[in-house]
Amino acid sequence: MIPENLARIQDEIMQSAQRAGRAPSDIQLVAVSKRFPIKEIITAFEAGQQLFGENYVQEVQSKSPFMPPEARFHFIGHLQTNKAKIAAELCYMIETVDRIKLGKVLNKHLSKSGKKLRVLMQVNIGDDPGKSGVHLEKAEELLEQMLELDFLEVCGLMTMPPLELDPELSRPHFRKLRQLLEVLTSKGLFKNQLKPELSMGMSNDFKIAIEEGATIVRVGTAIFGNRPSA
Ligand SMILES: *Cc1c(COP(=O)(O)O)cnc(C)c1O
Repeated sequence: MIPENLARIQDEIMQSAQRAGRAPSDIQLVAVSKRFPIKEIITAFEAGQQLFGENYVQEVQSKSPFMPPEARFHFIGHLQTNKAKIAAELCYMIETVDRIKLGKVLNKHLSKSGKKLRVLMQVNIGDDPGKSGVHLEKAEELLEQMLELDFLEVCGLMTMPPLELDPELSRPHFRKLRQLLEVLTSKGLFKNQLKPELSMGMSNDFKIAIEEGATIVRVGTAIFGNRPSA
């Protein structure tokens, strides 16, 4: 099932990209493996998937020793500062930096190893009280502060809009995030990025996210099936 699902999603990514006049190679698929056992992640890896998304540091810790070195984890959950060090060591990218305190803690740990870490700034684009992320009006200020942290490579923006049954309702949120990226880029705030990233879109709405400019889509259920309860 997992290999077939991956092939189908890759195909859908390609078609959505073409519909939007974009290059399919500009879109990366993060397979969200949270709560799925290592066996199924290995199955996905053997089918060619190398990028995985997890939202608990403990899970990254327990899974990464069993993963081949080519496998990479994106951290996509709310990150507590007391877990920042481990997350920085184990993850290829942290998509959810949403406050300067977290940025500073990550930077301090990274400065000891001298290693740079890719991060995204998480934006609460739908003003959803139940979601993490910096509010739209504060995004520019936070980005400016993050850019002063030498060991963070701020690669772009991430969002998780309010969950909608009709995926079309996500479109205005995705568009808003892309417009924010354009504004911040035009102010020179992403000047060191060849192509700033936009991480948006999940199983039910990734096609729409791609039409609106997503460069990273985070898909779990459509690849692995329904998640085991926590
Ligand atoms: C769980 C999760 C996803 C994947 O959701 P699906 O609906 O299973 O595709 C994507 N992004 C984040 C931040 C998540 O926590």
